[in-house]
Amino acid sequence: MAQRRGRKHIPQRTCIGCRTPSSKWELIRVVRTAAGVQVDPTRRLPGRGAYVHARRACWEAAFKRKAFARALRTELTPADVARLRAFADTLPPDEPQAEG
Ligand SMILES: [Zn+2]
Repeated sequence: MAQRRGRKHIPQRTCIGCRTPSSKWELIRVVRTAAGVQVDPTRRLPGRGAYVHARRACWEAAFKRKAFARALRTELTPADVARLRAFADTLPPDEPQAEG
């Protein structure tokens, strides 16, 4: 694949939890597919996407304000919510841990 762009432009996306723009590589993509709303680790699934930091607090905030439904323009089914919550549970808690 040809990579024409020499610039180091990093696409910015806004986290729907804390509303802070970040490079898309720091964010988890959530996508709306025909099979429901799901996490897209490859960032390649077609469909309307939303981005959330890999921090549990951002997911909690997104759930609380129904940001997923708004960003994805769909109602989340209980199965969708359960799937996203299961993913959020795998994330580290609020405080960032110092990496050594
Ligand atoms: Zn965030």
